[in-house]
Amino acid sequence: MRKIGTVPSWVESANDPATDFPIQNLPFGVFRRKGTKEAPRGGVAIGDQVFDLAALGLKTGPNLNKLAAAGRPAWKQLRKVLTLALSDPKKAKRFAKHLVPMKKAELFVPVQVGDYSDFYTGIYHAHAIGKMFRPDAPLLPNYKWVPIGYHGRASSVVVSGTPVVRPNGQTKAPDAAAPGFGPAKRLDYEVELGFVIGPGNALGKPAGIRRALDHVFGVVLLNDWSARDIQAWEYQPLGPFLAKSFATTISPWIVTLEALEPFRCPAFQRTGEDPRPLPYLADEADQQRGGYDIGTQMLLSSAKMRAAKLPPALLSRCTFRDSYWTLAQMVAHQTSNGCNLQPGDLLGSGTISGPTPDGAGSMMELTMGGKSPIHLPGGERRAFLEDGDLVIQRGRCEKEGEVSIGFGEAAGLVKPALSL
Ligand code: CA
Repeated sequence: MRKIGTVPSWVESANDPATDFPIQNLPFGVFRRKGTKEAPRGGVAIGDQVFDLAALGLKTGPNLNKLAAAGRPAWKQLRKVLTLALSDPKKAKRFAKHLVPMKKAELFVPVQVGDYSDFYTGIYHAHAIGKMFRPDAPLLPNYKWVPIGYHGRASSVVVSGTPVVRPNGQTKAPDAAAPGFGPAKRLDYEVELGFVIGPGNALGKPAGIRRALDHVFGVVLLNDWSARDIQAWEYQPLGPFLAKSFATTISPWIVTLEALEPFRCPAFQRTGEDPRPLPYLADEADQQRGGYDIGTQMLLSSAKMRAAKLPPALLSRCTFRDSYWTLAQMVAHQTSNGCNLQPGDLLGSGTISGPTPDGAGSMMELTMGGKSPIHLPGGERRAFLEDGDLVIQRGRCEKEGEVSIGFGEAAGLVKPALSL
Protein backbone atom coordinates (compact mmCIF):
# COMPACT_ATOMS: atom_id res chain seq x y z
CA MET A 1 0.00 0.00 0.00
CA ARG A 2 1.41 3.41 -0.94
CA LYS A 3 2.08 5.65 2.02
CA ILE A 4 -0.10 8.75 1.91
CA GLY A 5 1.87 11.89 1.25
CA THR A 6 4.90 10.23 -0.33
CA VAL A 7 6.37 11.90 -3.37
CA PRO A 8 6.04 9.97 -6.60
CA SER A 9 8.89 9.74 -9.09
CA TRP A 10 8.87 11.21 -12.57
CA VAL A 11 10.08 7.77 -13.63
CA GLU A 12 6.55 6.40 -14.14
CA SER A 13 7.41 2.71 -13.61
CA ALA A 14 8.72 3.55 -10.12
CA ASN A 15 5.17 4.42 -9.02
CA ASP A 16 3.76 0.99 -9.88
CA PRO A 17 2.86 -0.63 -6.52
CA ALA A 18 4.25 -3.94 -7.85
CA THR A 19 7.75 -2.63 -8.59
CA ASP A 20 10.69 -3.71 -6.43
CA PHE A 21 12.32 -0.34 -6.99
CA PRO A 22 10.12 2.61 -5.98
CA ILE A 23 11.81 5.87 -5.02
CA GLN A 24 11.77 4.70 -1.38
CA ASN A 25 14.27 1.95 -2.28
CA LEU A 26 17.12 3.37 -4.40
CA PRO A 27 19.46 0.35 -4.24
CA PHE A 28 22.97 0.57 -5.69
CA GLY A 29 24.46 -1.69 -8.34
CA VAL A 30 27.05 -1.80 -11.13
CA PHE A 31 25.95 -1.87 -14.75
CA ARG A 32 26.73 -1.09 -18.36
CA ARG A 33 24.58 -1.12 -21.47
CA LYS A 34 24.22 -4.67 -22.79
CA GLY A 35 26.25 -5.55 -25.84
CA THR A 36 28.70 -2.66 -25.36
CA LYS A 37 32.25 -2.50 -24.11
CA GLU A 38 31.43 0.44 -21.84
CA ALA A 39 33.22 0.54 -18.51
CA PRO A 40 30.99 -0.91 -15.76
CA ARG A 41 29.88 1.85 -13.37
CA GLY A 42 27.60 2.60 -10.45
CA GLY A 43 23.87 2.98 -10.92
CA VAL A 44 20.63 3.05 -8.96
CA ALA A 45 17.56 0.95 -9.73
CA ILE A 46 14.41 3.05 -10.17
CA GLY A 47 11.27 1.32 -11.48
CA ASP A 48 12.29 -0.58 -14.60
CA GLN A 49 15.27 1.72 -15.22
CA VAL A 50 18.86 2.12 -14.07
CA PHE A 51 19.93 5.66 -13.22
CA ASP A 52 23.59 6.32 -13.97
CA LEU A 53 25.33 7.80 -10.92
CA ALA A 54 27.64 9.65 -13.31
CA ALA A 55 24.66 11.99 -13.88
CA LEU A 56 25.40 13.40 -10.43
CA GLY A 57 29.10 13.64 -11.17
CA LEU A 58 29.76 10.51 -9.09
CA LYS A 59 32.47 8.35 -10.65
CA THR A 60 32.33 5.07 -8.77
CA GLY A 61 34.73 3.04 -10.89
CA PRO A 62 33.98 -0.62 -11.70
CA ASN A 63 32.74 -1.50 -8.20
CA LEU A 64 31.04 0.19 -5.27
CA ASN A 65 33.80 -0.40 -2.71
CA LYS A 66 34.65 3.31 -2.48
CA LEU A 67 31.00 4.21 -1.99
CA ALA A 68 30.69 1.43 0.61
CA ALA A 69 33.73 2.80 2.45
CA ALA A 70 32.27 6.33 2.50
CA GLY A 71 29.99 5.57 5.44
CA ARG A 72 26.48 6.35 6.58
CA PRO A 73 26.54 10.20 6.55
CA ALA A 74 27.72 10.12 2.91
CA TRP A 75 25.12 7.47 1.93
CA LYS A 76 22.35 9.49 3.59
CA GLN A 77 23.42 12.63 1.74
CA LEU A 78 23.53 10.77 -1.58
CA ARG A 79 20.07 9.29 -0.88
CA LYS A 80 18.71 12.79 -0.33
CA VAL A 81 20.21 14.04 -3.61
CA LEU A 82 18.89 10.99 -5.50
CA THR A 83 15.41 11.34 -4.01
CA LEU A 84 15.26 14.94 -5.14
CA ALA A 85 16.73 14.23 -8.58
CA LEU A 86 14.24 11.43 -9.26
CA SER A 87 11.12 13.03 -7.76
CA ASP A 88 11.23 16.67 -8.82
CA PRO A 89 9.44 16.81 -12.21
CA LYS A 90 11.55 19.85 -13.10
CA LYS A 91 14.65 17.62 -13.05
CA ALA A 92 13.18 15.08 -15.48
CA LYS A 93 14.46 16.89 -18.56
CA ARG A 94 18.01 17.07 -17.24
CA PHE A 95 18.23 13.53 -15.90
CA ALA A 96 16.04 11.41 -18.21
CA LYS A 97 18.95 10.88 -20.60
CA HIS A 98 20.87 9.17 -17.78
CA LEU A 99 18.35 6.33 -17.52
CA VAL A 100 19.05 2.93 -19.08
CA PRO A 101 16.15 0.41 -19.27
CA MET A 102 16.90 -2.45 -16.87
CA LYS A 103 16.24 -4.88 -19.76
CA LYS A 104 19.09 -3.32 -21.69
CA ALA A 105 21.53 -3.29 -18.79
CA GLU A 106 24.20 -5.86 -17.99
CA LEU A 107 24.61 -6.13 -14.21
CA PHE A 108 27.74 -7.10 -12.29
CA VAL A 109 28.71 -8.23 -8.79
CA PRO A 110 28.34 -4.76 -7.25
CA VAL A 111 31.41 -4.83 -4.98
CA GLN A 112 34.77 -6.50 -5.14
CA VAL A 113 34.27 -9.04 -2.38
CA GLY A 114 37.53 -9.36 -0.46
CA ASP A 115 36.28 -11.82 2.12
CA TYR A 116 33.09 -13.80 2.44
CA SER A 117 31.91 -15.51 5.59
CA ASP A 118 28.71 -17.41 6.09
CA PHE A 119 26.81 -17.63 9.37
CA TYR A 120 24.22 -20.13 10.56
CA THR A 121 21.68 -17.81 12.18
CA GLY A 122 18.50 -19.54 10.95
CA ILE A 123 17.49 -21.49 14.04
CA TYR A 124 14.68 -23.38 12.30
CA HIS A 125 17.15 -24.49 9.63
CA ALA A 126 19.74 -25.51 12.24
CA HIS A 127 17.01 -27.40 14.08
CA ALA A 128 15.68 -29.18 10.98
CA ILE A 129 19.14 -30.22 9.76
CA GLY A 130 20.29 -31.17 13.27
CA LYS A 131 17.24 -33.37 13.72
CA MET A 132 18.27 -35.53 10.76
CA PHE A 133 21.55 -36.40 12.50
CA ARG A 134 20.67 -36.05 16.19
CA PRO A 135 16.89 -36.53 16.67
CA ASP A 136 17.16 -36.16 20.46
CA ALA A 137 19.32 -33.04 20.53
CA PRO A 138 19.10 -31.24 17.19
CA LEU A 139 20.91 -28.06 18.25
CA LEU A 140 24.54 -28.37 19.29
CA PRO A 141 25.30 -26.97 22.77
CA ASN A 142 27.03 -23.86 21.38
CA TYR A 143 24.20 -22.75 19.08
CA LYS A 144 22.40 -20.38 21.46
CA TRP A 145 25.63 -18.88 22.78
CA VAL A 146 27.77 -18.19 19.74
CA PRO A 147 26.81 -17.01 16.23
CA ILE A 148 28.26 -19.95 14.29
CA GLY A 149 29.98 -19.26 10.97
CA TYR A 150 32.74 -20.35 8.62
CA HIS A 151 34.90 -18.63 6.04
CA GLY A 152 33.57 -18.99 2.52
CA ARG A 153 35.17 -18.33 -0.84
CA ALA A 154 35.00 -14.74 -2.17
CA SER A 155 36.30 -15.43 -5.69
CA SER A 156 33.29 -17.54 -6.68
CA VAL A 157 30.61 -15.05 -5.62
CA VAL A 158 28.68 -14.48 -8.85
CA VAL A 159 25.87 -12.18 -9.88
CA SER A 160 22.34 -13.34 -10.66
CA GLY A 161 22.09 -14.88 -14.12
CA THR A 162 25.50 -16.55 -14.02
CA PRO A 163 25.12 -20.29 -14.80
CA VAL A 164 26.22 -22.68 -12.07
CA VAL A 165 28.13 -25.74 -13.21
CA ARG A 166 27.42 -28.85 -11.18
CA PRO A 167 30.62 -29.52 -9.26
CA ASN A 168 32.67 -32.69 -9.49
CA GLY A 169 33.93 -33.89 -6.15
CA GLN A 170 34.84 -36.66 -3.83
CA THR A 171 31.87 -38.46 -2.30
CA LYS A 172 31.28 -41.67 -0.47
CA ALA A 173 27.96 -43.47 -0.10
CA PRO A 174 27.44 -44.69 3.48
CA ASP A 175 27.62 -48.34 2.37
CA ALA A 176 30.54 -47.90 -0.05
CA ALA A 177 33.97 -49.22 0.93
CA ALA A 178 35.82 -46.25 -0.56
CA PRO A 179 35.00 -42.82 -1.98
CA GLY A 180 34.83 -41.96 -5.66
CA PHE A 181 35.17 -38.77 -7.70
CA GLY A 182 32.46 -37.46 -10.01
CA PRO A 183 29.49 -35.10 -10.44
CA ALA A 184 27.69 -34.23 -7.20
CA LYS A 185 24.33 -36.01 -7.07
CA ARG A 186 22.83 -34.03 -4.20
CA LEU A 187 23.05 -30.44 -5.43
CA ASP A 188 21.10 -28.01 -3.28
CA TYR A 189 20.46 -24.29 -2.74
CA GLU A 190 20.32 -22.32 0.50
CA VAL A 191 18.02 -19.31 0.89
CA GLU A 192 20.06 -16.59 2.58
CA LEU A 193 20.64 -12.86 2.75
CA GLY A 194 24.05 -11.30 2.16
CA PHE A 195 25.22 -8.25 4.10
CA VAL A 196 27.69 -5.96 2.36
CA ILE A 197 30.21 -4.32 4.66
CA GLY A 198 30.78 -0.57 4.39
CA PRO A 199 33.53 1.06 6.44
CA GLY A 200 35.68 -1.62 8.03
CA ASN A 201 37.10 -1.84 11.53
CA ALA A 202 40.83 -1.62 12.16
CA LEU A 203 42.68 -4.87 12.85
CA GLY A 204 42.61 -5.46 16.60
CA LYS A 205 39.66 -3.10 17.14
CA PRO A 206 36.29 -4.86 17.49
CA ALA A 207 33.30 -3.02 16.00
CA GLY A 208 31.21 -3.43 19.16
CA ILE A 209 27.52 -4.29 19.24
CA ARG A 210 26.30 -0.68 19.57
CA ARG A 211 28.13 0.62 16.49
CA ALA A 212 27.97 -2.60 14.50
CA LEU A 213 25.42 -1.39 11.94
CA ASP A 214 27.62 1.61 11.07
CA HIS A 215 29.75 -0.99 9.28
CA VAL A 216 26.92 -2.33 7.10
CA PHE A 217 26.28 -0.77 3.68
CA GLY A 218 23.31 -2.89 2.64
CA VAL A 219 21.67 -6.20 1.88
CA VAL A 220 21.46 -8.56 -1.11
CA LEU A 221 19.79 -11.91 -1.72
CA LEU A 222 22.21 -14.82 -1.49
CA ASN A 223 22.00 -18.43 -2.62
CA ASP A 224 24.72 -20.55 -1.03
CA TRP A 225 24.79 -23.46 -3.53
CA SER A 226 25.72 -26.63 -1.68
CA ALA A 227 26.67 -30.13 -2.81
CA ARG A 228 25.32 -32.23 0.05
CA ASP A 229 27.13 -35.44 -0.89
CA ILE A 230 30.50 -33.71 -1.12
CA GLN A 231 29.70 -31.89 2.14
CA ALA A 232 28.76 -35.07 4.01
CA TRP A 233 32.11 -36.68 3.24
CA GLU A 234 34.42 -33.69 3.71
CA TYR A 235 32.93 -31.58 6.53
CA GLN A 236 34.46 -33.29 9.54
CA PRO A 237 36.43 -31.99 11.33
CA LEU A 238 36.95 -28.54 9.75
CA GLY A 239 33.57 -27.68 8.19
CA PRO A 240 32.44 -27.09 4.60
CA PHE A 241 35.10 -26.64 1.92
CA LEU A 242 34.61 -27.71 -1.72
CA ALA A 243 30.92 -28.49 -1.12
CA LYS A 244 30.19 -24.78 -1.19
CA SER A 245 33.11 -22.92 -2.77
CA PHE A 246 32.11 -23.57 -6.41
CA ALA A 247 29.49 -20.78 -6.53
CA THR A 248 27.52 -18.32 -4.40
CA THR A 249 24.89 -16.32 -6.27
CA ILE A 250 23.91 -12.82 -5.14
CA SER A 251 21.35 -10.33 -6.44
CA PRO A 252 22.83 -7.31 -8.23
CA TRP A 253 21.20 -4.53 -6.18
CA ILE A 254 22.42 -3.55 -2.71
CA VAL A 255 19.38 -2.42 -0.72
CA THR A 256 20.65 0.04 1.88
CA LEU A 257 19.83 -0.04 5.60
CA GLU A 258 18.31 3.44 5.07
CA ALA A 259 15.72 1.91 2.72
CA LEU A 260 15.15 -0.98 5.13
CA GLU A 261 14.61 1.26 8.16
CA PRO A 262 10.76 0.99 8.07
CA PHE A 263 11.04 -2.81 8.10
CA ARG A 264 13.04 -3.16 11.31
CA CYS A 265 11.50 -5.33 13.98
CA PRO A 266 12.36 -6.87 17.35
CA ALA A 267 15.16 -9.42 17.51
CA PHE A 268 14.21 -13.10 17.71
CA GLN A 269 12.21 -13.64 20.88
CA ARG A 270 14.14 -15.92 23.20
CA THR A 271 12.20 -18.19 25.48
CA GLY A 272 12.81 -18.54 29.21
CA GLU A 273 15.18 -21.46 28.67
CA ASP A 274 17.39 -19.62 26.18
CA PRO A 275 20.56 -18.08 27.59
CA ARG A 276 20.89 -14.30 27.61
CA PRO A 277 23.44 -13.18 25.03
CA LEU A 278 26.89 -12.61 26.56
CA PRO A 279 27.55 -8.90 27.25
CA TYR A 280 29.50 -8.28 24.01
CA LEU A 281 26.42 -9.47 22.06
CA ALA A 282 23.80 -7.81 24.26
CA ASP A 283 22.31 -4.43 23.50
CA GLU A 284 18.82 -3.40 24.53
CA ALA A 285 18.21 -1.28 21.41
CA ASP A 286 19.35 -4.18 19.23
CA GLN A 287 16.96 -6.55 21.01
CA GLN A 288 14.10 -4.10 20.50
CA ARG A 289 14.65 -3.35 16.81
CA GLY A 290 17.73 -5.13 15.52
CA GLY A 291 15.68 -7.53 13.39
CA TYR A 292 14.73 -6.95 9.76
CA ASP A 293 11.49 -8.29 8.37
CA ILE A 294 12.83 -9.15 4.92
CA GLY A 295 10.72 -11.77 3.17
CA THR A 296 12.30 -14.07 0.63
CA GLN A 297 10.94 -16.77 -1.68
CA MET A 298 12.57 -19.59 -3.60
CA LEU A 299 11.19 -20.70 -6.96
CA LEU A 300 12.19 -23.42 -9.36
CA SER A 301 11.70 -23.72 -13.09
CA SER A 302 12.86 -26.94 -14.73
CA ALA A 303 13.80 -27.24 -18.40
CA LYS A 304 10.62 -29.27 -18.95
CA MET A 305 8.47 -26.63 -17.23
CA ARG A 306 9.98 -23.88 -19.35
CA ALA A 307 9.37 -25.91 -22.52
CA ALA A 308 5.72 -26.36 -21.48
CA LYS A 309 5.50 -22.63 -20.71
CA LEU A 310 4.66 -23.33 -17.05
CA PRO A 311 5.51 -20.56 -14.58
CA PRO A 312 8.21 -21.19 -11.95
CA ALA A 313 6.97 -23.17 -8.94
CA LEU A 314 7.14 -21.62 -5.48
CA LEU A 315 9.19 -23.91 -3.22
CA SER A 316 9.24 -21.92 0.00
CA ARG A 317 8.92 -18.54 1.64
CA CYS A 318 10.58 -17.27 4.80
CA THR A 319 11.70 -14.08 6.56
CA PHE A 320 14.92 -12.87 8.16
CA ARG A 321 12.76 -12.07 11.22
CA ASP A 322 13.30 -15.73 12.10
CA SER A 323 17.05 -15.32 12.44
CA TYR A 324 18.23 -16.25 15.95
CA TRP A 325 21.04 -13.68 15.80
CA THR A 326 20.72 -10.10 14.59
CA LEU A 327 22.87 -8.49 11.93
CA ALA A 328 24.55 -6.35 14.62
CA GLN A 329 25.35 -9.47 16.63
CA MET A 330 26.93 -11.09 13.56
CA VAL A 331 29.19 -8.07 12.98
CA ALA A 332 30.00 -7.70 16.69
CA HIS A 333 30.85 -11.38 16.94
CA GLN A 334 32.98 -11.61 13.81
CA THR A 335 35.10 -8.63 14.90
CA SER A 336 35.17 -9.55 18.60
CA ASN A 337 38.56 -11.26 18.31
CA GLY A 338 40.06 -8.25 16.55
CA CYS A 339 39.42 -9.57 13.04
CA ASN A 340 39.10 -6.66 10.61
CA LEU A 341 36.17 -6.44 8.21
CA GLN A 342 36.81 -4.40 5.07
CA PRO A 343 34.61 -2.47 2.61
CA GLY A 344 32.97 -4.91 0.21
CA ASP A 345 33.23 -7.92 2.51
CA LEU A 346 30.17 -10.14 2.42
CA LEU A 347 28.51 -11.83 5.41
CA GLY A 348 25.92 -14.52 4.66
CA SER A 349 23.05 -14.97 7.12
CA GLY A 350 22.99 -18.74 6.83
CA THR A 351 19.92 -20.56 5.56
CA ILE A 352 16.78 -18.81 6.70
CA SER A 353 13.99 -21.29 7.21
CA GLY A 354 10.63 -20.64 8.80
CA PRO A 355 9.01 -22.65 11.60
CA THR A 356 6.61 -24.45 9.20
CA PRO A 357 7.33 -26.82 6.27
CA ASP A 358 6.52 -24.12 3.68
CA GLY A 359 9.46 -22.17 5.07
CA ALA A 360 12.11 -24.79 4.32
CA GLY A 361 15.11 -22.86 2.97
CA SER A 362 16.85 -25.78 1.23
CA MET A 363 15.96 -28.95 -0.70
CA MET A 364 17.65 -30.89 2.11
CA GLU A 365 14.83 -29.80 4.44
CA LEU A 366 12.09 -29.73 1.82
CA THR A 367 12.65 -33.36 0.81
CA MET A 368 13.88 -34.72 4.18
CA GLY A 369 17.37 -35.27 2.89
CA GLY A 370 16.05 -36.55 -0.45
CA LYS A 371 13.75 -39.17 1.11
CA SER A 372 10.48 -37.50 0.11
CA PRO A 373 10.86 -35.83 -3.28
CA ILE A 374 8.64 -32.87 -4.07
CA HIS A 375 6.27 -32.76 -7.03
CA LEU A 376 6.69 -30.06 -9.66
CA PRO A 377 3.93 -28.72 -11.93
CA GLY A 378 4.09 -30.83 -15.09
CA GLY A 379 4.60 -34.09 -13.23
CA GLU A 380 8.33 -34.13 -12.43
CA ARG A 381 9.75 -35.01 -9.01
CA ARG A 382 12.79 -33.56 -7.31
CA ALA A 383 14.88 -34.86 -4.43
CA PHE A 384 17.76 -32.51 -5.29
CA LEU A 385 18.49 -30.14 -8.18
CA GLU A 386 18.87 -31.49 -11.70
CA ASP A 387 20.70 -30.08 -14.71
CA GLY A 388 18.58 -27.48 -16.47
CA ASP A 389 16.87 -26.35 -13.24
CA LEU A 390 16.62 -22.60 -12.91
CA VAL A 391 16.61 -21.58 -9.23
CA ILE A 392 15.19 -18.13 -8.58
CA GLN A 393 15.32 -16.29 -5.25
CA ARG A 394 13.22 -13.18 -4.76
CA GLY A 395 12.94 -10.82 -1.81
CA ARG A 396 10.52 -8.16 -0.69
CA CYS A 397 9.62 -6.08 2.38
CA GLU A 398 5.96 -5.37 2.99
CA LYS A 399 4.32 -3.55 5.86
CA GLU A 400 0.95 -1.89 6.32
CA GLY A 401 1.27 1.84 5.71
CA GLU A 402 4.67 1.61 4.01
CA VAL A 403 5.63 1.47 0.35
CA SER A 404 6.87 -2.06 -0.39
CA ILE A 405 10.43 -2.42 -1.60
CA GLY A 406 12.08 -5.41 -3.25
CA PHE A 407 15.46 -6.91 -4.01
CA GLY A 408 15.01 -8.07 -7.60
CA GLU A 409 16.27 -11.62 -7.92
CA ALA A 410 19.21 -13.95 -7.50
CA ALA A 411 18.83 -16.63 -10.17
CA GLY A 412 21.10 -19.37 -11.44
CA LEU A 413 20.71 -22.12 -14.04
CA VAL A 414 22.25 -25.49 -13.21
CA LYS A 415 24.58 -26.69 -15.99
CA PRO A 416 25.90 -30.25 -16.35
CA ALA A 417 29.18 -31.13 -14.69
CA LEU A 418 32.33 -30.99 -16.77
CA SER A 419 33.21 -34.43 -18.05
CA LEU A 420 36.14 -36.00 -16.27
CA1 CA B 1 25.02 -21.45 4.04
